[in-house]
Amino acid sequence: MNLADVIRDVPDFPKKGIMFKDITTLLKNPEALKFTALQFYNFSKDKGINKVVGIESRGFIFGTLLAEKLGAGFVPVRKPGKLPADTLSESYELEYGTDSIEIHKDAIQPGDKVLMHDDLLATGGTMEAAIKLVEKLGGEVVQISFIIELMFLNGRDKLKGYDIKSLLEVND
Ligand code: AMP
Repeated sequence: MNLADVIRDVPDFPKKGIMFKDITTLLKNPEALKFTALQFYNFSKDKGINKVVGIESRGFIFGTLLAEKLGAGFVPVRKPGKLPADTLSESYELEYGTDSIEIHKDAIQPGDKVLMHDDLLATGGTMEAAIKLVEKLGGEVVQISFIIELMFLNGRDKLKGYDIKSLLEVND
């Protein structure tokens, strides 16, 4: 199966000039859903992973599926003000201004072997910040996975030294 066939391009969303990669068309397709989950599982099994960290909000979908398949726990990283208990926060640069993300302080224990997951790698700023949160809590990031990687934004450069897996590389 070619994932490019089941991911929808939506031009100018959420603003002009952005080609939004819409995975809802993949998610509603039973074969594509199974295929994607199985590929992620094959990348991540046998690595001793005991926590999967998914980034709001599309990172929650396969992050949770994968955690269950791996026999690991799932931890959400969320936009500010969404997590109810004590949080750690990390800000990161956007094209204009900054944004931040949060994790519960008790979500990761020192020594946890962590798989980081999001739907898409663009500039890498979001994932870099999420990794900092996990590492500040003593977690070891053993792998990072994405459905889609926008190659022309070179997000990998921000994530040097980590084992990065993406299922679909997009070049334009
Ligand atoms: P970045 O921090 O630049 O790597 O951006 C990654 C985050 O923004 C991910 O959580 C993606 O879901 C979202 N994102 C960025 N660009 C796109 C895009 N073209 N289509 C869909 N989601 C995107």
